[in-house]
Amino acid sequence: MRTWEANIRNVEPYVPGEQPKGADLIKLNTNENPYPPSPSVEKALKELDYDQFRKYPDPKASDLVHVLSEYYGVGNDEVFVGVGSDDVIAMAFMTFFNSELPILFPDVSYSFYKVWAELFGIPYKTPVLQEDFTIRKEDYYKANGGIIFSNPNAPTGVLLPLDEVEAIIAHNQNSVVIIDEAYIDFGGESAVKLTRKYENLLVVQTFSKSRSLAGMRIGYAIGHPDLIRSIHDVKYSYNSYTMNMPSLILGREAVKDDNYFKECLDKIIKTREEAKKRLKDLGFSFPDSKANFIFAAHKEIKAEDIYKALREAHIFVRYFNLPRLDNYLRITIGTEEEMKQLFDFLEAFLSN
Ligand code: PMP
Repeated sequence: MRTWEANIRNVEPYVPGEQPKGADLIKLNTNENPYPPSPSVEKALKELDYDQFRKYPDPKASDLVHVLSEYYGVGNDEVFVGVGSDDVIAMAFMTFFNSELPILFPDVSYSFYKVWAELFGIPYKTPVLQEDFTIRKEDYYKANGGIIFSNPNAPTGVLLPLDEVEAIIAHNQNSVVIIDEAYIDFGGESAVKLTRKYENLLVVQTFSKSRSLAGMRIGYAIGHPDLIRSIHDVKYSYNSYTMNMPSLILGREAVKDDNYFKECLDKIIKTREEAKKRLKDLGFSFPDSKANFIFAAHKEIKAEDIYKALREAHIFVRYFNLPRLDNYLRITIGTEEEMKQLFDFLEAFLSN
């Protein structure tokens, strides 16, 4: 072995969903929004003053922080923004999870949590979700170094009602509880309204799903000013300029156009509810989803076989070859037309 090799950090990385190239495909595998960003984002993009790119962006991301704080009715000092919620959550892990006690997150959840815990050397335990994929809140009533879960959960789409979320926060006021609300806009009640009640609560959201801006990489956290100050200190100890100028400008425009945002959400929710009926008729079962995807298993045909057949037809969904998950497909809600093509294919495939 070469001497320097002994000093290399070996980690098992998170595997993101595939980004297949080509125009003639239906992409329902990474929970992106099927609708374009707001027309006001397009306008701002066209009007970008490219000369300003000579300069560094605002390290405080003040304008974007300000529109978010106005939107949520909190102070500027209660908002942190980062390069997608992945960046925000990674910073939060570094900032808040420094106990010798294990942090807790569900066994079935966003698989990046385990990767960050390993990367940062944070001990962790993963309480097992119940048979129906719901969280048992009492599993989180024990000593811990912090808690994180997504709500609605991924990849199941299952929503934990806000009173149960609150019970978990209330029982854990000695550690930081992070609620990852990447999918909350598609039908859940946000815990943002609890951030003034619980100083130990950090709520993380993203522009990647409900705001159609996955490509711009914008995420944010809302919480007590002391939490936000601490996470800023870690950020400035790592990289002062995480947010690039176009993202700061275009993100701001997206938040301002609330009508467009709500119209897109309504369309996706309506399409999701129709998709649930179609899937049931085709012999699929699934936990009820409040996200922009459905986690479905077929009563006869193996998920992997359906996944492969769909792929050959250029329809991409997500398949996880993991214990407990390997008979499910995670299907992102696309446009009505995309879903029609998905169901046309499934109907033909399953009747063969
Ligand atoms: N949390 C959950 C539960 C997710 O599914 C995702 C998307 N992969 C993220 C966070 C990160 O999303 P982004 O970095 O695009 O905000």
